[in-house]
Amino acid sequence: MNNIDIKDCIEMDRRDILSSRREDFHLNPDVLYFNGNSLGAPPRAARQRALQVIDEEWGTGLSRSWNAAGWIRLPQRLGKKIAALTGAQSDEVICADNTSIAIYKALAMALQLNPGRSRVLVDAKNFPTDNYILQGLVALLGNSHEIVYAEIQDFPAHIDDSIGIVFFSHVDYKTARINDVPELTRLAHDAGAIVVCDLCHSAGVMEVALDNWQVDLAVGCTYKYLHGGPGSPAFTFVAKRLHDRVRQPITGWWGHAEPFLFEMKYRPAAGLDQTLTGTQHILSMAVAEAGIDSILKSDISLIREKSKALTTLYMHLMSQRCGDFAFTTVSPAESGIRGSHVSYEHENAYEIVKCLLENGLVADYREPHLFRMGFSPLTTRFVDVWNSVSLIEDVMRSGAWMDLRFSAKSFVT
Ligand SMILES: *Cc1c(COP(=O)(O)O)cnc(C)c1O
Repeated sequence: MNNIDIKDCIEMDRRDILSSRREDFHLNPDVLYFNGNSLGAPPRAARQRALQVIDEEWGTGLSRSWNAAGWIRLPQRLGKKIAALTGAQSDEVICADNTSIAIYKALAMALQLNPGRSRVLVDAKNFPTDNYILQGLVALLGNSHEIVYAEIQDFPAHIDDSIGIVFFSHVDYKTARINDVPELTRLAHDAGAIVVCDLCHSAGVMEVALDNWQVDLAVGCTYKYLHGGPGSPAFTFVAKRLHDRVRQPITGWWGHAEPFLFEMKYRPAAGLDQTLTGTQHILSMAVAEAGIDSILKSDISLIREKSKALTTLYMHLMSQRCGDFAFTTVSPAESGIRGSHVSYEHENAYEIVKCLLENGLVADYREPHLFRMGFSPLTTRFVDVWNSVSLIEDVMRSGAWMDLRFSAKSFVT
């Protein structure tokens, strides 16, 4: 690519077939928002849906809405929509809980599928909650299992017939590297291991083909690229061939075969219904549906194409305009193996992120020294990328980030 200027970016927006989809979202005109990989912006339909649930379904319908408004089947209804986005059958995905709890259930189910094997291979650099949950589960089981921590590129050397579960993310939350799920699944299956995959940074922003890839279990969240809203529920995939062989560990009444018989003893419901535990967050779930629908409205391959174009433009502009400022990319240069965020290592990443925030650019900081920008294809324009790099260049050239107030740590980074 040659030097790019703002006119090129305006032209890219003009040619973008997804550009009008921006209208479907409520966006703050005063910020350049590059944190949709952490919390997607709200679809306008989310507000209408929230008001409808509060005023009509809750207000007028009251408890009758469990049946009349379909609240009781929301986990399955949303699961079916997420299944369509992730290459699964409609009854292979269910929406409930948060990701951490969904991981707990998925790992417990996976452990039962391979009772003879006591080693679990995990990506040492996975998002911490994934590994914390595994550590807690293994401790509860009296340390009956050994956790093998490895870098994902070393997985092939570690996958052997001692490994019961292979657990990793589709897209690395720091580097954005896309892991080869079908290949890792093939290696795991050849060795007789079960695959548990985390889709938090891929669902809603790229093609996922769980059934074709033969993945066994997967989890993901809906508040990142699925625009589901803060704290919106997670989802769980279990391949149909395993439905009769798994038992989830948090056996509450919502997962009972006949919850309203109020029997003394637990009996699991059929299929994925057994993975439910208790009363779900109906408001969150109703709003999340608006987010999932906003993604389903456009072909996921078009969303992926735009995502690649946005991250490619950003990396190009960063080297063109900020090449002098000691940013080192940790994200793949090749867009085919890059997710929808880009991270740069910089010694002063924390101060830079805080300074940008004060100047209207919302990105985020990840330990150690990572400056991370996320690109939600339906809400980000190419010209926004231009403007964000202009701001980064200004802040670096002026040294504005050096002000002492930017080095005080906040709780949420
Ligand atoms: C965002 C994210 C989570 C979030 O877990 P919660 O329980 O929803 O807070 C978990 N794992 C990965 C890989 C993530 O990116």
